[in-house]
Amino acid sequence: MGLGFLMASPRSSRALPEILKRLDGRGYKAYKELQGTWIYPGFVLEIDHVQGDPYADPSRVTVTVEPEVAAYPERAFESTPRALGTAALLARTFASAARRHSSRRGSGKSGRIRMEDPGQLVLAQTAVRVDRTGAVEARFTVGLPARGRRISGGEAGALLLDDVPAVVRAALLSERYEPSKIEECAAANEDAEALRATLRQRGMVAFVADGARLPRRSGVDDRPLETETVIPFEAPEGLAVNVRLPNAGVVSGMGIPEGVTLIVGGGFHGKSTVLRALQDGVYNHRPGDGRELAVSRSATVKVRAEDGRAVAGVDISDFIDGLPLGRSTGAFSTENASGSTSQAATIVEALEAGAEVLLVDEDTSATNFMIRDRRMQALVPKEGEPITPFVDRVRSLHRDLGVSTVLVLGGSGDYLDVADRVIRMTAYRSEDVSERASEVARVFPTGRAREAETEMTRADARSPAHGSIDASRGRRSSYVRVPDGRTLLLGNESVDLAAVEQLVLRSQIHSLGLALARIAEGLPGDPRTVPELLDALDTLVTEDGLDALSDRRLGTLSAVRRFEVAAALNRLRTLRVE
Ligand code: ADP
Ligand code: MG
Repeated sequence: MGLGFLMASPRSSRALPEILKRLDGRGYKAYKELQGTWIYPGFVLEIDHVQGDPYADPSRVTVTVEPEVAAYPERAFESTPRALGTAALLARTFASAARRHSSRRGSGKSGRIRMEDPGQLVLAQTAVRVDRTGAVEARFTVGLPARGRRISGGEAGALLLDDVPAVVRAALLSERYEPSKIEECAAANEDAEALRATLRQRGMVAFVADGARLPRRSGVDDRPLETETVIPFEAPEGLAVNVRLPNAGVVSGMGIPEGVTLIVGGGFHGKSTVLRALQDGVYNHRPGDGRELAVSRSATVKVRAEDGRAVAGVDISDFIDGLPLGRSTGAFSTENASGSTSQAATIVEALEAGAEVLLVDEDTSATNFMIRDRRMQALVPKEGEPITPFVDRVRSLHRDLGVSTVLVLGGSGDYLDVADRVIRMTAYRSEDVSERASEVARVFPTGRAREAETEMTRADARSPAHGSIDASRGRRSSYVRVPDGRTLLLGNESVDLAAVEQLVLRSQIHSLGLALARIAEGLPGDPRTVPELLDALDTLVTEDGLDALSDRRLGTLSAVRRFEVAAALNRLRTLRVE
């Protein structure tokens, strides 16, 4: 909580013009006087933190609207999934109203109103919350206006008394929405959540509803591709299933069973788009996204090659053993992994964090990690090749460890021998070609020798060495910044997260940065191993919400899975394990 809000007693917004008149022309620091609680007609504004100067991070504020004023129907917040669906609608609306109503009111960030936008995702976040009584809380930032570095009282009045109330009215009150819109958002999220819960019971790793629209505008823009030529998804015959959802009723679509599933087809026929829907299916999506009912198990992890990344003490010996010069891979560390060693490490790390489903796309895999064909086996005997290719491990992964895999492949038919089922994409239409695939595998044997003599085993969980996770920087005990959507600054370190594809929002990176800072600080129960640390974080956030990660009432946090926390931890270049 901002201290100011504890110190001063609430003041009326009617007092603001007088105060701002007095502050006009004074040094920017005098704005600190505004810190505290302001009673507006219809809502309460708390100024939690006043920025140091007009160019610094803008001031943090919280608006609360009482249930009777917000006036949402009980159905909009009666369960957690429904309340999250409603809150995401409000946050999206607020973020865009803030962009519309902000105007430049002086130097630096003067006049800017900003809220973190959850975009296509519906997840727990701290920008807008609708609680169990129907009260609405919104956290956002405002740039308090300045001329140069002096307070601009008149502009501040316009910002705080015109712009902010306009945004609040445009986004937080139920009267502003069609009742059907609110119900649609709450219901869609309830359905997505219910769908994910049924997957495990029914032995499925993912479900993609008939009619889902999967393609996105681009690799960096996850809004739906909007052209007439988008072909809606339709389940292939052998994999068609029905599910019953609380609001949508019975829905048909593709259910991908546990085991080893291949998605094959020609280049540009839509394979990676299906896989991306599965990797994004760990999150719920807003109505209109196209992937509202494309849902995968929450312990689904995309793994890929990422040469150049650091690896700290990971046992990759099931995949890579007997490196040149006798380097051990039982606890493999490097500052600069190759494509294959990085992919092996990423898989073992995902298993350590508790992954149940792996997603692999040949587009982003190391070829030598994926396959060694008969000719290469003949030319380079096993003794001279440290790698046991994934094709020789993927079955054991399921049989011995219970971990399913979905692979996108266009180039290597050697995987037909190890697949439980094969889906073929042809011009964005799917077909179950499992039987033909077995036939092909029988008629055209690969002639390869299996290279794995042993079964897959779970590596022992690692324990980070004391002090090797350090969030401090200079005099600050904790420094966490998110300069862009792919980088975390933690203490003196910069963590490159560009290859962690299931991180979608900047606010997720902020959360996981704070989570790592909490690990550095020490968590309750003194957890040691990586899975213990992740469990302790999960417990903390489940019990106390995202605010357990910071005591500063931040509106810039959203839910992040243990797999992404682990991914950031594992990419921290200072990490050492005991
Ligand atoms: P592949 O992995 O098979 O090479 P992609 O999944 O990358 O193919 O898709 C190729 C292109 O087709 C992409 O630009 C993608 O947006 C587009 N696309 C994918 N699915 C559909 C669809 N159902 N309808 C229309 N376009 C699609
Ligand atoms: Mg592709």
